[in-house]
Amino acid sequence: MEMSISSTEQGVRYRQPIVCVLGHVDHGKTTVLDAIRGTSVAQKEAGGITQRIGATDIDAETIERSARALLKGAKLKVPGLLFIDTPGHVAFSNMRARGGALADIAVLVIDINEGLMPQTVESINILKKFRTPFIVAANKIDLIPLFTPVRDVSFIECLKKQRKEYVEELDRRIYELVSALYGQGFQSERYDRITDFTRTVAIVPVSGKLHIGMPDLLMMLAGLAQRYLENDIRLRTDETRGTVIEVKREEGTGVTLDTVIYQGVLRAGDEIALNTRDGPAVTRVRGMLINTHGRKKGLREVESVQAAAGVRVLISDKLDVIPGTPMIVVRGDRDKIFEEIIKESSVSIPLSEHGVTVKAEALGSLEAVSYELGQKGIGIRSAQTGDVTKRDIIDVATLQDPMEKVIIAFNVSVLPEAQQAAAENDVTIIQGNIIYRLIEEVEGWLAEKKKQLE
Ligand code: GDP
Repeated sequence: MEMSISSTEQGVRYRQPIVCVLGHVDHGKTTVLDAIRGTSVAQKEAGGITQRIGATDIDAETIERSARALLKGAKLKVPGLLFIDTPGHVAFSNMRARGGALADIAVLVIDINEGLMPQTVESINILKKFRTPFIVAANKIDLIPLFTPVRDVSFIECLKKQRKEYVEELDRRIYELVSALYGQGFQSERYDRITDFTRTVAIVPVSGKLHIGMPDLLMMLAGLAQRYLENDIRLRTDETRGTVIEVKREEGTGVTLDTVIYQGVLRAGDEIALNTRDGPAVTRVRGMLINTHGRKKGLREVESVQAAAGVRVLISDKLDVIPGTPMIVVRGDRDKIFEEIIKESSVSIPLSEHGVTVKAEALGSLEAVSYELGQKGIGIRSAQTGDVTKRDIIDVATLQDPMEKVIIAFNVSVLPEAQQAAAENDVTIIQGNIIYRLIEEVEGWLAEKKKQLE
């Protein structure tokens, strides 16, 4: 296996591919992310890792070392990987870039003892929709019976220490996974048996808890990046773009934006265009902060950052910035940039004349919830971001059809006066932060209502 992405191939510079970790709750997303960081830290005494705001940088050297440990003479050169710190498909859908997903590639974590669960399927649907290349981390292999304890090793090293019975049981479970993934439309295989990487999703058996399989995971991700992203990850210097992940208003410091810069270079003093609740606006980067580790742990002010990177941006204006908005450095025609900001802030939701009302915290999750409702044949009459307000309740209360007197609130609060208005006007609010549970509740409510009306 030979791989090569040179970071300076014929003068072409590359940025790190952005990686997101997805999967069902408790299958080990957070643990696997921590293990990836841990592996890196252990290998390079905190040198190979920079925890930016909201994202973690694993440098090229760490990945190359992982590859060399697995394959003698492997020539794997990648410009590092940037892992988004917030795992999950909701975060994945909320983080947009250029109408697509912010993450270039993904790790789908599946507990090998449980197999595909509802949020695994939701994750797969989202990966399909965005056409995001991914690998599967088949996690918790240490829980398979007859496991011989090892830790901090590659999967290949781990295998050498295991008994025949264990390996047979592991393979049996992997083939269950292969068959379940086939049901979702994907050909997959244990990664070390794959002959044609272009058609097969790699399954990397891991234990996040015992740090097993992390070199294998990093190597497969680097390979995936190389196969699919050559053109997408060329570093451009003519434009700078990012996505705002979180907006914070702090006394004294003004507004801070946690962002991921996915293209170009951002410098202090740059003029940036953003979407606000009052429409697109321009403001200036007053300062930038990144996290640092090691002896000088903490926030550090920087003058410039190069994609891909997580960075906290301080802006002076008290703009009401919408989380999830694109951020574009203003060079050239401002109106054109504003048009783009508006276009990129919109999502496609099939709205119908009749149906339920949906509120969600950001555009991406609004789209994700709407997609899942659509899959169940539930119509949507209105879909908006933000908390549930009294105005929303009054709006729904005026509808004639009792089946429409419901608001689905995903990851948002219901304001007290809205709560009261709902009680007074017989409007039901179905609230939650797990999509499939929310949809189940909506289905239950609609079925119950239908029965009452018959
Ligand atoms: P998440 O909800 O997907 O982020 O899952 P977490 O990372 O929080 O893990 C859920 C639980 O599974 C925690 O109790 C972890 O300690 C445990 N866990 C995660 N990975 C492993 C693993 O590889 N082996 C074992 N035995 N437990 C694990």
